[in-house]
Amino acid sequence: MQKDIATPVRTQEILKKYGFSFKKSLGQNFLIDPNILRNIVGHAELTKDSAAIEIGPGIGALTEHLARSAGKVIAFEIDQRLLPVLEDTLSPYDNVEIIHSDILKADVKQIFAEKLENYNDVMVVANLPYYVTTPILLKLLMDRLPVRGMVVMMQKEVADRITAKPGTKAYGSLSIAIQYYMKAEVAMIVPKAVFMPQPNVESAVIKLTRHETPPVQVIDEDFLFQVSRGSFVQRRKTIINNLQSSLPNGKQKKELILQSLEKVGINPTRRGETLTIEEFGQLADELYSHFH
Ligand code: SAM
Repeated sequence: MQKDIATPVRTQEILKKYGFSFKKSLGQNFLIDPNILRNIVGHAELTKDSAAIEIGPGIGALTEHLARSAGKVIAFEIDQRLLPVLEDTLSPYDNVEIIHSDILKADVKQIFAEKLENYNDVMVVANLPYYVTTPILLKLLMDRLPVRGMVVMMQKEVADRITAKPGTKAYGSLSIAIQYYMKAEVAMIVPKAVFMPQPNVESAVIKLTRHETPPVQVIDEDFLFQVSRGSFVQRRKTIINNLQSSLPNGKQKKELILQSLEKVGINPTRRGETLTIEEFGQLADELYSHFH
């Protein structure tokens, strides 16, 4: 078997062969350590009955490991220059399909329906382009794709926010948006030395596992996210102050907001960062009729 793509020597060879230069603007930091890749793929718990969706295959370092473990791999790559490279490096694998597209513009739902109908078990596995980590995750979650979960590398600071618990500094509307759909945990912290070129920031891999049932049932999910975002606009302010200034006509509706907070047993002088998802859910439902 040929050496892994993700070794420093083979990566250098491939880059040289194609005269490839990294585009910082596309978040191109390629993995050059097969152990990290084995670890990432291990966390995804794939079998030949699983499919994997990858965002940004680069020169195929992770894709190759996914192809060995999963029944099928679909990878979205925005950079046209990488298509001939991937054609070459992934030629030993017949279960990989590369889609030349910006993941944020792709109709992933449609692609699911067309290409993954035979797979009941689908995981998103990726070393994400860091400049668009949050939009990619939110898009995939809001599209409500039928995935079991995601194992994704990102900058550690975002990983901390996504996995944060109430009452911590990192906890905010991103934690709530993601944890509403998925259980979120940090799977590993990753040193800079495993990338080429090395990124400026620390990295971490997180594992997201879809909840069987959401932690709270709400009337309107979008309104839940509006209320939670609105509660963190100024982190140091109380929830009543934040909601007054962030909800439409909040100032005029202060009394109604106060009543709603009281009804669900939330002290108006608490800060947003102390509220659990369940509390945000109860609050959003209580406020709903006053804002619709
Ligand atoms: N998977 C490879 C690895 O681990 O070595 C490369 C990971 S690199 C951090 C991110 C990859 O995402 C690059 O190949 C980049 O061209 C691609 N990319 C950047 N923005 C993208 C987007 N909006 N849609 C799809 N791919 C994108």
